[in-house]
Amino acid sequence: MAYLANPSNTAEILRKYDFHFQKRYGQNFLIDPHVLDRIMDGAGIGKDDFVLEIGPGIGTMTQYLAERAGRVIAVEIDKKLLPVLADTLSEYDNVSVINEDILKVDLNELVEKENGGKPVKVVANLPYYITTPILMALLKKDVPVDSITVMVQKEVAERMQAPPGGKDYGALSLAIQYYTKPEIVANVPPNCFMPRPNVGSAVIRLERYEKPPVEVRYEEKMFALIRASFNQRRKTLVNSLSGGGVAPKEKTAEALEKMGLSATVRGEALSLAQFARLSDILGGEL
Ligand code: SAM
Repeated sequence: MAYLANPSNTAEILRKYDFHFQKRYGQNFLIDPHVLDRIMDGAGIGKDDFVLEIGPGIGTMTQYLAERAGRVIAVEIDKKLLPVLADTLSEYDNVSVINEDILKVDLNELVEKENGGKPVKVVANLPYYITTPILMALLKKDVPVDSITVMVQKEVAERMQAPPGGKDYGALSLAIQYYTKPEIVANVPPNCFMPRPNVGSAVIRLERYEKPPVEVRYEEKMFALIRASFNQRRKTLVNSLSGGGVAPKEKTAEALEKMGLSATVRGEALSLAQFARLSDILGGEL
């Protein structure tokens, strides 16, 4: 089987199986071998690695992964792709395809069963419509993962990496930076996909921390506070927390004073460490 990572081999396979793209599944297949090389370099896959691929499509990236990793499990929702994958991956005996919705898979159970609970590497060209729920499921549910290297919409990659203060900074930046160290490894234009998406893309590598970079007593409460702060991001923190029913104005103002911050500060100015401190101070009250 030839590599799929070019326009003519991809088009040929699509014709052979009379496959029609499903927009609702975010199907934009990679057709550029250089982008695949960059993803493989970014992910740093070797023979000792067990890789979880989300959304293999016709198997373009799966072929690259199968050649480099010890074992690959690929979870694909679209059952019309199963006969295609059986064909394009027929030469590899270290790949299994699971026909499931990734958001319905018990990932802890999968990693336990397939890799004895040892950490896996996630590599994917993600379906963009569910980028955040997929990443949150991997991170918040404590799935044993060492790194996640994924293609996402460019703006979303920028939000994940954003420092405090700017317009890109928000709840996603804080969640990603609490669990991982993010690094954009490549920007990828629409012409590297078939069909072309309407947005730019980027490959981001998220290296999971063994321990988060800040200590916080009430993790869930910190995230509730972060969500409320950015729900009404143009308001002051004091107002958005009281408006969101998270903390009364006086309590937030007192906490900010303790932290040496102005009572009129907006949530977007606070670092992860400051959100952690604020939630520790407000903790009992939230
Ligand atoms: N990996 C292929 C590539 O790079 O050419 C395809 C990537 S395409 C952007 C996203 C893939 O995710 C599609 O194959 C789509 O059918 C699949 N997908 C969409 N939603 C999914 C879900 N909830 N669970 C598993 N796979 C899903």
